[in-house]
Amino acid sequence: MSQISQNEPEEVKVKADWLREFHRSTVGFCVNFGIAHFFGLIGLVLIAQGRVMTSTLIFAYILAEFASYSITIGCHRLFSHRTFKATRPLVNFLAVCNFFAGQQSIWLWSAWHRVHHKCVDTDEDPHNATRGFFYSHIGWLLTYDHQKFLKSLDKIDMSDLEKVPIIMFHERYYMYIHHTCIYILPTVIPWYFFAPPICGEINLMTHQ
Ligand SMILES: [Zn+2]
Ligand SMILES: [Zn+2]
Repeated sequence: MSQISQNEPEEVKVKADWLREFHRSTVGFCVNFGIAHFFGLIGLVLIAQGRVMTSTLIFAYILAEFASYSITIGCHRLFSHRTFKATRPLVNFLAVCNFFAGQQSIWLWSAWHRVHHKCVDTDEDPHNATRGFFYSHIGWLLTYDHQKFLKSLDKIDMSDLEKVPIIMFHERYYMYIHHTCIYILPTVIPWYFFAPPICGEINLMTHQ
């Protein structure tokens, strides 16, 4: 590889995709994490006040279940460790579910996890458990030295995942589709399909 091709693509990538890079940065993560938890807390208050329909709660529960399968079965067992062979429809299904999970793209999750297993409990382990419970649970994401970590990704072979079209699609459009999946769809779907027709009810009441 020539020197030019070693240095240039990195710079071009960062300039062209600053929003995507921001989303992956520590600050971007904290902003995203803060907003998601803020809405989560509002949701809890609404549930406590009895203002959330049972159908919406069931819908949210099903979404959360499939999102977690995309992490445990998908990102962990299948994409990081290749512990079983999956058909193309299952791979595609897990990738779609993963947009709802909010744990970064399949490529990045798997890269983090492969580095974790390769360098477990050292400084290069992204969630080095010897740094304590808080750090290995969430602190590593809140304080992450992103640039340092990107360098250690070079040591990890991700070529198997890079051959899978849906994984590269997921990687490229993750930020946009993920936000649609976690904020817009779960708001619009229950409102459109489950909510009683408010205007209709009011009309019915006034005509009685
Ligand atoms: Zn593992
Ligand atoms: Zn582990």
